[in-house]
Amino acid sequence: DADLARVAELVRDVPDHPSPGILFRDITPVLADAAAFTVVTTELASLVGDADLVAGVEARGFLLAAAVAVVAGTGVVPVRKAGKLPRVAASRTYELEYGSATLELPADTIAPGARVFLVDDVLATGGTAAAAVDLLTDVGATVVGFGTLLEITALDGRERLGDTRVDALLRV
Ligand code: 5GP
Repeated sequence: DADLARVAELVRDVPDHPSPGILFRDITPVLADAAAFTVVTTELASLVGDADLVAGVEARGFLLAAAVAVVAGTGVVPVRKAGKLPRVAASRTYELEYGSATLELPADTIAPGARVFLVDDVLATGGTAAAAVDLLTDVGATVVGFGTLLEITALDGRERLGDTRVDALLRV
């Protein structure tokens, strides 16, 4: 697909970020390019199906999820890092390469039985997406799928997501 090939050219490789030996894939130039952002948003929105809500993971996932929700005609919900929400419906802590991280969902936002499509910019080890899926399940939602701009395939993140459908627009 020529449009996605152009999106791929806009992803910038940043060696040794956030720590030595890590090759960070910076997707900021994709978001800043009007045509590429439209392609990405439209492609992800085509995966939303019959979902009631699009959820995005803080922080780059917010930018994608809100745009996808508008195109798909759904609401949007933030999966936040710990300590930001005034009232928390559910919380999950997961292991990072060094240390741990906690994600939270807002109270009184997701109705039990809601169908939710989850979005994030990058799928790496899958720990973040798996924690977000677990959180949404904790509050009684059904996760209809996970969509990401970029999958780093060598890290096998999709293995962590079990039965959840995973779609990546780009793979490296
Ligand atoms: P994981 O939990 O799958 O290892 O990491 C995915 C999460 O960390 C996502 O929320 C994503 O934003 C961030 N992340 C990890 N590696 C990268 C990367 O190379 N580029 C970008 N843009 N985000 C990354």
